[in-house]
Amino acid sequence: MSIQIDWRRCQGHGVCAAALGEIIERDESGYPLMKTHNVPEELHSAARLAQATCPAAALRATR
Ligand code: SF4
Repeated sequence: MSIQIDWRRCQGHGVCAAALGEIIERDESGYPLMKTHNVPEELHSAARLAQATCPAAALRATR
């Protein structure tokens, strides 16, 4: 699975970092910093949760 951020939509809510902290950190302004775009198998459900709960619909998790 791969996960991407649509920077045109992201508003820096940080929900994604809470749901998928193993892959997404926050910068000093609250915007996400991706450690990697590749999501290992054990984090697929967390990635789907992050995508579903992003208030701006800015996350895309794809196979
Ligand atoms: S939850 Fe969505 S809007 Fe908020 S920082 Fe993450 S990608 Fe951006």
